[in-house]
Amino acid sequence: MSVTEATEIKTTCAYCGVGCGIVAEKPPIDAEVIVVSGDPLHPANLGRLCSKGSALGETVHHENRLLYPMVNGNRVTWDAALTDVVSRLQSTIEQYGPQSVALYGSGQLLTEDYYVANKLMKGFVGSANIDTNSRLCMASTVAGHKRAFGTDTVPGCYEDLELADCLVLVGSNMAWCHPVLYQRIRAVKQSRGDRMKVVIIDPRRTDTCDIADLFLPIQPGTDSVLFNGLLIWLLEQEKVDHSYIIQHTSGFDRTLELARVTSPTVQVVSKKCGLEPEVVEIFYRWFAENDRSVTAWSQGVNQSSAGTDKVNAIINCHLATGRIGKPGSTPFSLTGQPNAMGGREVGGLANQLAAHLEFNRPDDVERVARFWQAPNMVGKPGLTAVEMFDAVSRGDIRFIWIMGTNPVVSMPDADRVKEALTLCPTVVVSDCIRNTDTADVADILLPAAGWSEKDGTVTNSERRISRQRRLRAPVGESRYDWSIMAEVGRRLGYGEAFSFQSPVEVFREHAALSAFENHPTMRPRDFDIGGLMHITGEGYDGLVPIQWPIPDTTSVGQARLFEDGHFFTETGKANFVPVSELAPVNMPDDNYPLILNTGRVRDHWHTMTRTALAPRLSQHRDEPFVELHPDDAASREITDQSLVVVSSQYGQVVVRARVTTHQQSGHVFVPMHWSGQFSRSGRVGSVVNPVVDPFSHQPDNKYTPVELRRF
Ligand code: SF4
Repeated sequence: MSVTEATEIKTTCAYCGVGCGIVAEKPPIDAEVIVVSGDPLHPANLGRLCSKGSALGETVHHENRLLYPMVNGNRVTWDAALTDVVSRLQSTIEQYGPQSVALYGSGQLLTEDYYVANKLMKGFVGSANIDTNSRLCMASTVAGHKRAFGTDTVPGCYEDLELADCLVLVGSNMAWCHPVLYQRIRAVKQSRGDRMKVVIIDPRRTDTCDIADLFLPIQPGTDSVLFNGLLIWLLEQEKVDHSYIIQHTSGFDRTLELARVTSPTVQVVSKKCGLEPEVVEIFYRWFAENDRSVTAWSQGVNQSSAGTDKVNAIINCHLATGRIGKPGSTPFSLTGQPNAMGGREVGGLANQLAAHLEFNRPDDVERVARFWQAPNMVGKPGLTAVEMFDAVSRGDIRFIWIMGTNPVVSMPDADRVKEALTLCPTVVVSDCIRNTDTADVADILLPAAGWSEKDGTVTNSERRISRQRRLRAPVGESRYDWSIMAEVGRRLGYGEAFSFQSPVEVFREHAALSAFENHPTMRPRDFDIGGLMHITGEGYDGLVPIQWPIPDTTSVGQARLFEDGHFFTETGKANFVPVSELAPVNMPDDNYPLILNTGRVRDHWHTMTRTALAPRLSQHRDEPFVELHPDDAASREITDQSLVVVSSQYGQVVVRARVTTHQQSGHVFVPMHWSGQFSRSGRVGSVVNPVVDPFSHQPDNKYTPVELRRF
């Protein structure tokens, strides 16, 4: 295709939860590269792209694509593959019941894919064993939101981070993990200087600290103590908003009582958190003095055995000051994945129903069942990620379908996950990539369309629904995930419920469910996009990015929620949640004296199945490594760049040493990305402990006791 023939198409980045808009040149089907640039009109990025997003067009070549269905390593037709899938699914259910089957999905799926998968599992198969890798990403925030607000609602928007006079980032290396949002904040910080205070709370000194006015190198696991202490400070400095607390919240006194136990004084907080008292006091003072305060957090808070409590300890401080859902003044969670939020909207977690309806309300279960006319509506939550693979390991789950994710690399205790899948009678994997560690243990491989071929919607961290548009037809025999699931639904005998022929039909149904039976006598709902339930194909094609709720056709979206102090609880009031001091489940000991933290590097994404396709993205970090403090290196005779064995009671990896004072002594960091495909020895999931938060069931990827030795 010549340049003059190329047509520009607007779409959305496939990576992180910032959800940047992209302008792509329409490519021919066999294009090896697609030319992309930032969409100057997309509100999330206003034309910016980070290294990953700008290299997206270099990852669309066909190398390592799964191009046709395979059963037991042999190429088969779609008809044969789906006949096999349905027959194994039916026979497993007949012999062992619907709880013996499971589906494990991904925050990379589009909302339409998620919707059909969730409907199939919860309404027709009759199992809520559908969970996703979003469990590893956002589940603690979901649980924290629900406890505080009654619903999983992000109150603010990106602009709030720019408007804040005091911006607190907790457990977030935004410079690497949400780079475009970081660029936005850095630009504002540069222009506002001292008028904008930036506080970074993180055990590691990361690149995000470049914009910090104050850095708190906190001991991992002590965030709740720090924020409980802030609550006490706010009270003592007469900075709480008593009128707001009385009118719009409940539970303040009990919460305060517990905060006094964990965090009575700045001195106690400092000692427990491993911080200098002066530094803690400056943080508390800046937060107290600035009405425009935003606290934003990411996986350093969520991926913890006390992640939900940490979220609530943060929200408690915002409720106490009435700083919620106001311009430049709100708690704000940074979603990891491009569509973790969309997945939550359709109920793509084992403990959720669709459209933010809840299992613990029988009316909600019946409402979804009525809407779907579901013959096998499930009435209670299913197994969450770690539980699900445990059940596979025990033989309780005998059929598992894994869509667009790589749990053999990304799950904690990953060797056990691999072994469990190897022994599972039926493992179906649908993916666009052929050689992943998880595809290697599949019985049935189904080729899925990838970015540039898919068509649907995603929702970013600020509730903004954007279109991810098809730039070209699916390559090989690959199909859309939603259409694969719908075809299985039809083959199971539910033709009417799964008659979808296009993504807009799926989206319309999803929107209609969000508004189904929303009359004044029912409990009000936060997630309502009923204004889009009659959207035409043309309207869907041209949908501009818009923030929910969108309750009617005149809605233009809503940047903030809760500004009026009304929440979606039974009483309309937000809940303070008392937060105690929970120690990590597994503590360091003589055998494993160091604490392992895992996370992202700047230029790679998840298990590198896509980012490794663009060679320039491997230049920043080209191999797996462990960062450790010089004292820990010296005591083990480890030198910079030497090979090191990192071991826990679960497994081990061999990685390159990077000795740096950015790590605290006693703490080490290993990136999460490398798999067996790219480094035979760098799959750190095999070392991570399978410990989960008791409320969110999110694994603690930030705290595993380990030991290091020279290789
Ligand atoms: Fe993509 Fe995130 Fe980078 Fe934006 S910041 S271009 S969404 S990876």
